[in-house]
Amino acid sequence: MQYRPAPFSKAMKQEPLLYFDNNATTQVDPEVVREMLPYLENFYGNPSSAYSFGQQAAQALDTARHRVAALLGCEASEVLFTSCGTESTGAAIHSALEMDRDRQHIVTTRVEHSATLKTCEALAKRGYEITWLGVDSEGQLDLAELKAAIRPDTALVSVMYANNETGVLFPIDKIADIVRAKKVLFHTDAVQALGKIPFHLSDAKINFVSFSGHKLHCPKGVGVLYVNRRTKFHPFLIGGSQENNRRAGTQNVASIVAFGKACEVAGRWMEHEATEVASLRDAFEAGILERISGVEVNGDREHRLPNTTSLSFQGLDSEAMLMLLDQKGICCSAGSACTAGSLHPSHVLKAMGFSDERARASLRFSFSRFNTQAEVSRALEIIPRVVEKLRRVAVAA
Ligand code: PLP
Repeated sequence: MQYRPAPFSKAMKQEPLLYFDNNATTQVDPEVVREMLPYLENFYGNPSSAYSFGQQAAQALDTARHRVAALLGCEASEVLFTSCGTESTGAAIHSALEMDRDRQHIVTTRVEHSATLKTCEALAKRGYEITWLGVDSEGQLDLAELKAAIRPDTALVSVMYANNETGVLFPIDKIADIVRAKKVLFHTDAVQALGKIPFHLSDAKINFVSFSGHKLHCPKGVGVLYVNRRTKFHPFLIGGSQENNRRAGTQNVASIVAFGKACEVAGRWMEHEATEVASLRDAFEAGILERISGVEVNGDREHRLPNTTSLSFQGLDSEAMLMLLDQKGICCSAGSACTAGSLHPSHVLKAMGFSDERARASLRFSFSRFNTQAEVSRALEIIPRVVEKLRRVAVAA
């Protein structure tokens, strides 16, 4: 389990890496690397080629599809491989809008990942109508408001399963029931949920679900879109007949093999995620709250991913914190990785009604099965010193 990549940051000097940013991306599992390597080195055939060398690659895709389906609790035919979570979400939204062009309304939330957010913003500019649902201070939705927002011309309801910044979980089964009763299509972005909480899509009333490999100890650049077998699908990428005519383009065989393996491994570690990873997160969170004054947990602590904590450190600037923590070899995040570096306070924390100041003082720490108690203990020595230093500087300024 202690597979450690070489240090990658000059800023880290001799400090061992403490990687607490698993919602941004994850360390690729060595078991997964071993499984995919032969498909880079030896079995490079095109899975669409009829000869047996190509069919070996096709067979590998089939095995991967079945492994993903086993983790999702669905049929292999419902698994469509894509290039990333963002593509999966774009494809689901595109398909829903193509299904019935008279329906030009989408219901979504203010706390979605930019994959959904920016797509809907772009659609709004093209004349589609978007209803943006707000959240309360815990990051939770009002389901009565969601129900009331669905109209006869609604093409799709798109509500994420697990929030990437706070880890807050939406009650996706209840939402699916509400949407199904209104006879509208439902998509959920479950990129952060895969491998952390169990899925039973065979009895779910969900039409589309997006997933991404690199959040699951698999390489970047491969995703999955679950498409319910009773849901008509309009492809986004048109060309060859790959993925049963639902996504043109030669498949990324090695990465898909990796995704399949990552799902098989994740099934074995699921219990560990719910217990051991959660207890690492809890020990970290309790340790920070005990050692540092003026810290608050952002979002619903009861309904959230087992690996995530979002904390606001009163009076601090998260960008400055990130820089100092980086020098100590600690990787964490201010908001989501995709928006890090921007000066805007997190849209998720703002939607929860937090001030710009609190939003800008927030850091996300996200753990995985590759983290250890020793790493948490070390971080609990470093972080209070960094906070104290920054607070001293702020007082002096
Ligand atoms: N959705 C959520 C909730 C995410 O956290 C991410 C990645 O951070 C994505 C979608 C996008 O996934 P990908 O990086 O595979 O495009």
